[in-house]
Amino acid sequence: MTLEKLETDVVLIGGGPAGCTIAKELSAKGKNVVLIEKGGDDDFLLGNGLGVFLRLEKGFHFPLPLKQSKEGDTIILAKCLGGGTLLYAGAAAYPDMAYWKKHNMELPKDLIDEAAKECWVNLPPEDFIGPGTNRIWEAADALDMPFEKQYRHVDFDKCRTRCEFCTNGCRKNAKWTAREYAKEAVQNGATLLTRTKVNDIIIENSVAGGVKAKGKDGKQYEINAKAVVCTAGGTYTSILLQKCGFSDAGSWFAGDPTFFSFGFVKDGPGNSGDHNMTVGWHDEENKILFCSMISPKISWHIQLVQDEGFKALPNLHRLPKTLGVFAKVSDDGVGRVSQDGSISKTFTKADNERFKYGREINTKILNKAGCDPSNIHHSGFVMGHPSSTVRIGEMLDTNLETKVKNLYCCDTSVFPEAPGIPPAMTIVVLAKRLAKQLEAIV
Ligand SMILES: Cc1cc2nc3c(=O)[nH]c(=O)nc-3n(C[C@H](O)[C@H](O)[C@H](O)COP(=O)(O)OP(=O)(O)OC[C@H]3O[C@@H](n4cnc5c(N)ncnc54)[C@H](O)[C@@H]3O)c2cc1C
Repeated sequence: MTLEKLETDVVLIGGGPAGCTIAKELSAKGKNVVLIEKGGDDDFLLGNGLGVFLRLEKGFHFPLPLKQSKEGDTIILAKCLGGGTLLYAGAAAYPDMAYWKKHNMELPKDLIDEAAKECWVNLPPEDFIGPGTNRIWEAADALDMPFEKQYRHVDFDKCRTRCEFCTNGCRKNAKWTAREYAKEAVQNGATLLTRTKVNDIIIENSVAGGVKAKGKDGKQYEINAKAVVCTAGGTYTSILLQKCGFSDAGSWFAGDPTFFSFGFVKDGPGNSGDHNMTVGWHDEENKILFCSMISPKISWHIQLVQDEGFKALPNLHRLPKTLGVFAKVSDDGVGRVSQDGSISKTFTKADNERFKYGREINTKILNKAGCDPSNIHHSGFVMGHPSSTVRIGEMLDTNLETKVKNLYCCDTSVFPEAPGIPPAMTIVVLAKRLAKQLEAIV
């Protein structure tokens, strides 16, 4: 078996938004960087529902081969260059400054502005607010719920008005993904290893010195580095740390559980086919983000069958007349990631109260928008923001360094509480901030 030895300034474990950002920032400053991603980097079936499954961590969850918690909720984990941004809905949210201040972190305004520009953060033009979405918006207005336009990571000049497929991966490259940064990093001279998995972090005398990885065709790598950054995402960063002896990693787990509520209208349009997540309301008091959206076709059908089994059959043909709104609930973070990759996620009394409130609000909006009140459905939970497993203030200092010198973490794992809002832009800002620190020391 071949063993390749590499020397670098910084090695990044995971090609999600944080890994790609740090690779781009440091390579632009002439630093040597190796970015390692266990998934692939290709366009095969991108934009197609089937392509999504090729880019996800698998598990058994009838009828979908998706990862789930021990308690049976769906957890979506991407495995490809770009990480979750390849398959995310493209919603953008500026970092919540009060959240970070509470945890003694200052996110510099110039880095936020830079991230917004580079990650294509825009408000949707009027013609991207679809007819069904307008219906939800008007209903919410009538109920005094302050829905407003939501920021998107979308270049609307490249996008189509009637496209709902952001979460399938965008074939038109209208949605920003972290692959953009990875491309820049490679142009700047960074080494990118895809389909290569880091299995161990090399630590000697409490100082991190590199990683061991296994690549395509079983090729082994030993990569020595002045700094190691775990950017493997909210779940896998905690598993890597557990392997290095951080027994508390993964003893906490937040997910921002999201559920979709939908009903059926007799007259007029539903919001199937409308551009995703263009209007919504962040109800900060109750820690819920409400947005107009239903899953795109096929995903919606599968989700309904998954949740309701045979009872779904009479409604499966009704997607064109479906109006939907989702609630993303900031949870209390009770859960555990184990070293074998399994996740237990339980909810507190306060979480359950928030779910109840979220369902009530969604139902009110749907009824007001003209849905048949006797046929309102609420989906099971999907957790798209696995996070808070290696928390700042507990396992990391505010420079994102662990107790092992030169070993850093930067991704959703570091969030001290559930993100509560779409986290991609905040991750990019945290990564830019860490890159500045690393630039000064490697
Ligand atoms: C359906 C869905 C919709 C979403 N919509 C939005 C949205 O609209 N807006 C938003 O801001 N966020 C959204 N998110 C969340 C967002 O995509 C994620 O929060 C974000 O991508 C997480 O970034 P991360 O850096 O923590 O890790 P990830 O994106 O998970 O990246 C980590 C990467 O590391 C790799 N990796 C893991 N272990 C190893 C290893 N040992 N060796 C090498 N590589 C490894 C993984 O393959 C992965 O590619 C959504 C998520 C989902 C699932």
